[in-house]
Amino acid sequence: MDQLGLLIDNENVGATGDASFERLNPISGEVATRASAATVEDAQRAADSAAAAFPEWSALAPRERRKILNKAADHLEARGSEFVEAMGAEIGATAGWAMFNVMLGAEMLREAAALVTQISGEIVPSNRPGSMAMAIRQPVGVVLAMAPWNAPVILGVRSLATPLACGNTVVMKTSELCPRTHRLIVETLVEAGLPKGALNAVSNAPDDAADIVEALIAHPAVRRINFTGSTRVGRIIGETAGRHLKPALLELGGKAPFIVLDDADLDEAVAAAAFGAYMNQGQICMSTERLVVMESVADAFVEKLASKAATLIAGDPKRSDTPLGSLVDTSAARRIEQLVRDAISKGAVLAAGGRLEGTIMDATLLDKVTPSMRIYGEESFGPVTTVVRVGSVDEAVRVANDTEYGLSSAVFGRDTNRAMAVAKRIESGICHINGPTVHDEAQMPFGGVKASGYGRFGGKWGVAEFTELRWITIQDGPIHYPI
Ligand code: NAD
Repeated sequence: MDQLGLLIDNENVGATGDASFERLNPISGEVATRASAATVEDAQRAADSAAAAFPEWSALAPRERRKILNKAADHLEARGSEFVEAMGAEIGATAGWAMFNVMLGAEMLREAAALVTQISGEIVPSNRPGSMAMAIRQPVGVVLAMAPWNAPVILGVRSLATPLACGNTVVMKTSELCPRTHRLIVETLVEAGLPKGALNAVSNAPDDAADIVEALIAHPAVRRINFTGSTRVGRIIGETAGRHLKPALLELGGKAPFIVLDDADLDEAVAAAAFGAYMNQGQICMSTERLVVMESVADAFVEKLASKAATLIAGDPKRSDTPLGSLVDTSAARRIEQLVRDAISKGAVLAAGGRLEGTIMDATLLDKVTPSMRIYGEESFGPVTTVVRVGSVDEAVRVANDTEYGLSSAVFGRDTNRAMAVAKRIESGICHINGPTVHDEAQMPFGGVKASGYGRFGGKWGVAEFTELRWITIQDGPIHYPI
């Protein structure tokens, strides 16, 4: 098997000392990818290279940056089957999830391409006679990009597309769980014509992550950090970035609530809940983890959702085309199994699923979940969702907000004014009325509150994250000074 190198200055290079690490296929245990394990010096070299590329890339006409980003989107789509293969081998993803990743990843590149001429400023009225005062946005320098394995193309592209569109150069620290998938993204951009150094990629052995991330955040040329991953690591990144006084955009974990009001269209609610809870085996930050259902409709809702869940079986995506694929690894499978067991031992009702073989787990539904159960508060990040029954709208809102997280949420109800009033009271960055908690579009303000992090990807909000806002004045005529 070929070993993936680091990508620095558009060249595939080995790590210092030629160290490497392996990513195993979660189902077969075979080596899926062997990749170079960067040292701190390698990571610093990648940041030096990005710093050297910054003057040229940031000065390039927007038209040229747009051309490259659009071309990369075409390349990404053209290499769809390679992504299917890489995602299947590295994370056990279904072909459907991989192709959806490629489709949305390409859209994110095209949306970023469209932003290049939208990085605008303002003239601000000044009190000083003869002064023209401007608020202008400029690229910041080098951006450190880190994305997880679960939606590797969407989140990998998201971590670098807007930063590049704004004229920054990027160092991507790829995920140890999907180095090949992330590397493919970088290759599509290089093939599309990115000048050398504008985007470098470093892969690392899992044990070296802390040192490499610290060194990259500390590197003087790195001016912004974006991290999508767990809240645990997000806190470390936020603290390190804070110590170096560098802004970080943190997209972290979630425990999305989905409120079913008593006037909800139950069939629509069930379809949205099943999709939101079980798509990609529930390994999505926006996954529906908590169904908060009003008592009067709870029996009917649970019965319908249990029948739907029973059709959502999991299998090895290489051998079958079941709707669900594999979990990311056996430790995730064990953790999720323990959460389910704990809930059942404390009185939860297993309404559907529960089968787990290795890393293959069917869609699972737990009814009558209470705060004493671990799964009430812990992110499961698996194909299991929970029902909490509530007696009133106020109780529904209280339960929805009874979590440290606040990324996505949903409210189902036919009276949309009433549903909107509920949506406004939910503490989350995102809320969909009569739609699933899992929904992403490149141009939307995407991000969370509370332990789900801070900052926003998407559209002009993403531009604000990856540009420096400056106040510049031009004086016409003399200024009167008091001394
Ligand atoms: P993770 O936080 O476990 O790992 C992410 C990265 O952190 C890895 O690349 C690793 O190298 C790095 N890391 C590990 N230890 C470190 C340390 N001590 N210092 C610095 N870096 C370190 O996350 P994951 O398992 O890859 O992703 C799953 C999580 O991501 C879930 O919690 C999920 O909800 C979240 N997520 C959030 C979003 C969002 O947009 N909010 C999207 C997808 C996933």
